[in-house]
Formats: sequence, C-alpha cells, structure tokens
Amino acid sequence: MVRMRLWAVRHARAMQVLYNSLEWVLVRLHPLFERIGYQRLEKPVAAFERWVKGLLFDCKMCGQCALSSTGMSCSMNCPKTIRNGPCGGVRANGNCEVKPDMRCVWVEAFAGSQRMKGGVEAMRVIQIAVDRRLEGRSSWLAVAKEKGAALKAAGTQQQLGAGGKP
Ligand code: SF4
Repeated sequence: MVRMRLWAVRHARAMQVLYNSLEWVLVRLHPLFERIGYQRLEKPVAAFERWVKGLLFDCKMCGQCALSSTGMSCSMNCPKTIRNGPCGGVRANGNCEVKPDMRCVWVEAFAGSQRMKGGVEAMRVIQIAVDRRLEGRSSWLAVAKEKGAALKAAGTQQQLGAGGKP
C-alpha cells in the first residue's frame, strides 16, 4: 500500500530503531535457529516477513533487503527495480517517469535516509545486483544466520584467547 510505504519513509528513524532491535534478537536466536534448522524455518518466517514488510514497505521479497541503505524506501518498487538510483528520468516534481503519479522511490529514499542515523552514508554504499535465486526467501533469517555465525565465531575466538593466557 503506497500510503503505508510513504508513512514508513516519513518515520524512517523509528523504523530503523525497530529494525535494529529485531536484528539484535534475531542474531542472538541463531543457535536456536540452527538447532531447529534454517531450512525448516524458511517457509513460516518468510510468510510472516512477507506479511509485515508487505504492509509497511510494499516489500517484494527480493531476499536481500536493502531498506537500511535506502531510507526505508523499498527500491524494488521502482518500475526499473534500480538498486542504485535514481535513473535519469525523475520528473521535475519528483515523480517517476514510468508511473507519473508515483513519487520516485529514490526521491523518497533520500528523504528517508536523511532522517536515519547514518542513513545518507549508508546510501552511498553501492548495492550489488539482485540475485534472483534468493527471491521469496527471508532476509531476516539470512541476517540471523550470517551475523549469528560471526558472533559465535567471535565468541569462540575470545574464549580461546582467554584460555591461552598464562
Ligand atoms: S529490499 Fe527486498 S526484502 Fe527489502 S523491502 Fe524491498 S523487496 Fe523486500
């Protein structure tokens, strides 16, 4: 829903705080997720993620969420699905050249990023091309798996370091 999507961008800072809290929890749940099995969790978590993010951001479940780097404006709503926008066709009023009645998602992204902590810097990071094989998969689980594994490895190293002391 476009109205909700624009609301989320207007409240990008609150969305960022909310997401950071969610990520903190997800990363710490990694050992539990591992025990249950990420593969088994994929379907129900992806369905829930689709529902929540569909409502808030018009999420298209690309599987590689970039909202934190795009001012909470989902770039997959760009008719050209440009991940590093905007294109050269933005109208003088800030609307899309393909959908003249729609605000350019990248104009929205810049507005949202200015409201977020470190948002403008994050927007400068080049997004790699979308890997279509990940479409429909949960970004939340992917983050939990990647960052959870890194956290676990760091903890093990710390333990080894402490154990190595005389
Ligand atoms: S970037 Fe991808 S996962 Fe994130 S809201 Fe957009 S379509 Fe959904």
